[in-house]
Amino acid sequence: MPFKKAEYIWMNGEMVKWDDAKIHVLSHVVHYGSSVFEGMRTYVTDQGTVCFRLREHSIRLRNSAKIYRMDIKYSEEEIDRAILDLIGINGLKGCYVRPVAYRGYDSLGVDPTPCPVDLTIAAWEWGKYLGPEALEQGVSVCVSTWNRMAPNTMPPMAKCGANYANGQLIKMEAIRKGYVEGIALDPAGHVSEGSGENIFVVYRGDLITPPFAACVLPGITRDTIITLARDMGLNVKEQNIPREMLYLADEVFFTGSAAEVTPISKIDDIVVGAGKAGPITKKLQTAFFDYVEGRAADKYNWLTLVPEYKGVSV
Ligand code: PMP
Repeated sequence: MPFKKAEYIWMNGEMVKWDDAKIHVLSHVVHYGSSVFEGMRTYVTDQGTVCFRLREHSIRLRNSAKIYRMDIKYSEEEIDRAILDLIGINGLKGCYVRPVAYRGYDSLGVDPTPCPVDLTIAAWEWGKYLGPEALEQGVSVCVSTWNRMAPNTMPPMAKCGANYANGQLIKMEAIRKGYVEGIALDPAGHVSEGSGENIFVVYRGDLITPPFAACVLPGITRDTIITLARDMGLNVKEQNIPREMLYLADEVFFTGSAAEVTPISKIDDIVVGAGKAGPITKKLQTAFFDYVEGRAADKYNWLTLVPEYKGVSV
């Protein structure tokens, strides 16, 4: 899906025209994947456009940078404000926001520390990540032949650009074989996650998702679903999932800022449960959309209203 261009991109404190938002080809990030990034959605509510869990995304961005010893010059509060400014100046409503901090242009040794840490934020209108019907019909996926990165290699708790070399292998293989997405196992063979989504399994009435130690990104939608599920009285467990449980589960679904709550209908051509969104998936999906679209009370302060744009503030 090509970009639906917005007018401006925020770069190191300046609003730059979309087509002019460029970096030098010898920037460290181009060669060594030295970036950390975020992906967040905004939603349209009766009150106006809201960012979903804005602060948590800014915190995770700075946490990813911390692991890589990258000094982002902007605080969480400033990143939040820059995002709100960018959405405002572009007049965007429902959109996807992509902040990215990266090692810029200075020298090209592997050591990134001489290079500046630049911060760019883009936002654009984006449809449903796993296809327009995915949220209702579910998606057909495979277990990837590629594993997630082993612990103590590329830290999966950092949302680092370089991790998506692994993600690209998983995603390309899945698409080439006719599936929408791939589920990667961790190096011990436990279920880990999709190339850009966390995974949940409903098994004998419990809602189970792999723990962080199974090489998963600490997903903000994952945390949202765990919270909403516990509010409903569901028994949520963060525990290792053997591959075969995927085939025997009553329901399986993906979560992610891009993928939202997407049911999985088939895994390796084996029908999951009834082959469509099951009752628990549906209930959680409804609770999720009721929350993000402002139909439910904002009990956890997860919604930040995009204020009227009054000029750049960061
Ligand atoms: N795992 C990976 C590898 C991802 O790229 C994403 C998307 N950021 C997720 C999980 C889901 O995380 P979140 O719910 O915070 O978008």
